[in-house]
Amino acid sequence: NETINKIAAGEVIIRPVSVVKELVENAIDAGADQITVIVEAGGKNRITVRDNGCGIAYNEIPLAFKRHATSKLSTIEDLEEIESLGFRGEALSSVAAVAKVQITTRFENEEIGSQALFEGGALIHQRVCAYNRGTEITVKDLFYNTPARRKHLEKDKKEEAILRDQLEKIAISRPEIRFQLSSNGRMVLETPGTGKVIDVVKKLFGSEMADNLITLNYENKPMKLEGFVGNLKTMRTHREDQMFFINGRFVKNNRLSKALDEAFDGYSMKHQHPLGIVFIELPGRMLDVNIHPAKTEIKILNESLVCLLFKQGIRETLRNASLIVEL
Ligand code: ADP
Ligand code: MG
Repeated sequence: NETINKIAAGEVIIRPVSVVKELVENAIDAGADQITVIVEAGGKNRITVRDNGCGIAYNEIPLAFKRHATSKLSTIEDLEEIESLGFRGEALSSVAAVAKVQITTRFENEEIGSQALFEGGALIHQRVCAYNRGTEITVKDLFYNTPARRKHLEKDKKEEAILRDQLEKIAISRPEIRFQLSSNGRMVLETPGTGKVIDVVKKLFGSEMADNLITLNYENKPMKLEGFVGNLKTMRTHREDQMFFINGRFVKNNRLSKALDEAFDGYSMKHQHPLGIVFIELPGRMLDVNIHPAKTEIKILNESLVCLLFKQGIRETLRNASLIVEL
C-alpha cells in the first residue's frame, strides 16, 4: 500500500511547485483570504503554507490524509459543476507519501486546535494544541524516501522561480486574497488582497508597467473578456507575460497566444509579443475539463471560433483605445 501511494504520489507531486500548488489550492478552497508560503532551498528542504481558512477538525485529520479522501464531492454529478479547485482527494496523501508533513490546524467550529505529523504516508502522532483559526502545513525533505526523484530536481534557484511563477498566476486569478511568498527568509512576492487585479499586477510588474495597460471589457456572446493587454511600450520578445485564465483558472494555450499576437498585427513588429492578462469567460458546455491527477486541464471545444471571437475582442479594444487605426 505504501508503494501504491508512492507511485500515485509521483503523478501528483513532481517537484516543489506541485506541493505549493496543491496546498495553496486547498487553502483557497478553505475560504482563506490570507495565504503565506514559506520555502527553503527552492522548496526542497521546506515548504510551509499557512492560511486563515476554515481549518480541519481533529477527527478529520487522518481521513484528510487518506487517498481519495475529499470533503468536496458528495455525488458523482458534482463533477460536472466543480467549483472547488481540489476534488480528487489525492493531494495531501500524495505529499505525505513522499515527505515529512506536519499539520497544525483549528476547525472554525472547534475550541481547540490539533497537530499531527506524517512521515512516508504514516501518521506518527497527533495531539491537541492551541491554535488560531486556520491551517498551517509544513512539508520537509521532499522526496527523502524517493532519492531518484529528488535527484531529478533543478537547482534551488530554478525550483524557486518555478514555484514563484505558479504563485503569481494564482495570485492574479485571486486578487481578493493576500498572498505572501518568502524564500530563504526573504519576501519575494506580496499581494495586497484588494480584490482588484490591477493592484496585483502593479505589485508583480511595477506601477510603471501598469500605466501602460489597456483595460479589457468586452462581451460577444457567449464569450466575455476582462483583464489587460499591454500597449506598444510593453512589447516583449517572449510570451511569458501572456497569461490566460478561463473561468478563473490559468491555462496554457498556444492558439490564444497566437490570436493575441495577431490582434496586434500591422502594428507590432515581427517576433514581438504583447503583454496580456486575460480573463476569458465561457459557458461550461464549450469546455472540456480533463481531470488528470497532476493538473486540471481545460480544453476549449470549439477553439477556432473562440480564438476568432477573442481576436475580435482584443482588436476592438485596441481600436477603442485608439491604438490601431483601421485602414
Ligand atoms: P481535495 O482537495 O481534492 O479534497 P486534498 O488531499 O487536497 O483533497 O485534501 C483533502 C481534504 O483535506 C480536503 O477535502 C479538505 O477537506 C481538507 N483540507 C486540506 N487542506 C485544507 C486546508 N488548508 N484547510 C481546510 N481543509 C483542508
Ligand atoms: Mg486539494
